[in-house]
Amino acid sequence: MTKAILVGAGIGGLAAATALSKTDVEVVSFERARNLATVELGAGITLWPNAIMVLDKLGVGQEIRARGAPLHSFEQRTRSGRLLARWPMEEMARRIGAPAIGIARPDVHAVLAQAGGYGVQTGTEVTGFIEREDAVEVTLADGRAERGDVLIGADGIESTVRAQLLGATPPRHAGLAIWRANLPIAPGVPVPDVAFMLFWGTGKKFVVFHSGPRQLSWEAIVRAERGGSDPPGMSKDVVLTYFKRFADPVRTLIEATDPNAVFRTDVSDRPPDKHWGRGRVTLLGDAAHAMTFAVGQGAAQALEDTMALAARLDHTRDVIAPLRAYEEARMKRSAKFQGLAWRLARAGAWKAPPAAILRNIVLATSSPMVWRAQCKDMTLPEY
Ligand SMILES: Cc1cc2nc3c(=O)[nH]c(=O)nc-3n(C[C@H](O)[C@H](O)[C@H](O)COP(=O)(O)OP(=O)(O)OC[C@H]3O[C@@H](n4cnc5c(N)ncnc54)[C@H](O)[C@@H]3O)c2cc1C
Repeated sequence: MTKAILVGAGIGGLAAATALSKTDVEVVSFERARNLATVELGAGITLWPNAIMVLDKLGVGQEIRARGAPLHSFEQRTRSGRLLARWPMEEMARRIGAPAIGIARPDVHAVLAQAGGYGVQTGTEVTGFIEREDAVEVTLADGRAERGDVLIGADGIESTVRAQLLGATPPRHAGLAIWRANLPIAPGVPVPDVAFMLFWGTGKKFVVFHSGPRQLSWEAIVRAERGGSDPPGMSKDVVLTYFKRFADPVRTLIEATDPNAVFRTDVSDRPPDKHWGRGRVTLLGDAAHAMTFAVGQGAAQALEDTMALAARLDHTRDVIAPLRAYEEARMKRSAKFQGLAWRLARAGAWKAPPAAILRNIVLATSSPMVWRAQCKDMTLPEY
């Protein structure tokens, strides 16, 4: 029996533990956070059909559908509300066999924690690993060590496993900041009848989607330097100032949001790497292929990783070749989304009005072609 050590219990780590629980691999998981319930702080997330298909295979797809909201329509508009593109998302769901779902991030995490949170040792930080010929050993901040056959670093964009494997380099800042919030649907909240909407401005972008039966989530993205912050309690006012010229429902949605629900982070990624692993060590999720929010594929690609990894580690005695086969199966596809997400995020940072006008023309004219490519890309490959 193979023993895998899993570092990190985010969406990627928990999904990997769930996928591996269906194989003959024994899993030991370490998570730095003291409590699993506090790991996935955040607003909403869009899970495209490829993600939902993995979640179905993990046995949690129905629970995700029940907690989230189907994204049956998608529109891109200009700041003033002019329609640039409309996608028939229901048709994509029919073609692929799974819908896109908007959902609160803590809900995704909670559902996966129920399925894959067995035996996670919380409050336990991994500080490094030692490669031995017949095993890999992780060292823990509390002085303990754990030996296994395989080490899977699912420890996020600032991964410790990755730093030891590939060198410690900072993530790449996209020149953007993102403010996010969840907004319960209540009297007075302007509820868009389009499930998923995106508004493009100059150096600014606003996204809103349904993320539960009675909940909306929004993201406001603005060109900004790395490490910026807002005066305490002022994030909502800062966003309102940036988006005051945007058409409704943008302004009214921001106005209706609880100021304490709004939080700000930088937008960063990592460029694709040539390797993700060595010997008995590999990476998964953001540790392997961190990408910007812009194509809604970070979590989806982490979920796809789990399928490819579990299929290759199941019933095998030699673990090294299967780990390289897993990386080989996943690197090209995840790198494609990393590149796409970077370019699309950067296009939201264009500030010069002529560049923004050109971008809007390209978005409108290329929409049918991009839609066809999207339907193809959102189909889950056979792993
Ligand atoms: C603004 C924004 C919007 C997004 N929108 C979408 C979207 O719509 N759709 C989508 O599919 N994706 C989206 N993503 C991407 C998605 O959120 C991530 O790709 C995904 O959550 C990555 O999961 P992960 O488990 O790989 O990493 P993480 O969530 O970062 O989890 C890593 C875990 O490892 C733990 N850890 C770290 N170091 C150690 C250590 N040394 N020892 C022990 N534990 C450790 C951390 O505490 C954490 O719990 C978005 C991301 C952002 C930032």
